[in-house]
Amino acid sequence: MSEDSKLPRFCRETRSQLPALACGELTGWPLHVVRAHLRRCRDCSTEAERQHQLSAALSSLKTAPADPPAGLLDELLSRADRRGVRERAAVPARGALSGARPGLSVAFLTVGAAASTGIGYGLWRGARAVRNRRRGY
Ligand SMILES: [Zn+2]
Repeated sequence: MSEDSKLPRFCRETRSQLPALACGELTGWPLHVVRAHLRRCRDCSTEAERQHQLSAALSSLKTAPADPPAGLLDELLSRADRRGVRERAAVPARGALSGARPGLSVAFLTVGAAASTGIGYGLWRGARAVRNRRRGY
């Protein structure tokens, strides 16, 4: 799952589109291609489902009244820097977040990229933990 670099190229291309797919922003030809691949590739369709859950978790963060916790954003950014995924993240998810607050956009893009590199589940759990903590207030 963390062996992203060993994936076939088409799987990697597909996964770079999953963040946009997960938030329903993928349309036209890219959507057609991604869906066609997901029907054939169980690994990628599993990943797509995971990102869908991630997207749902982040949506609930996005609708929270306060700004995202600084610690979460810093953690995401430091992971992104370490893995060099920030540039890749900006391409597939660009346009998917118009209207989101800037800080959240960065977090969302970063999480999307991180998920496609195989550490997404941990981040998703982290996001969920943050959300649960916020509910405590
Ligand atoms: Zn695949």
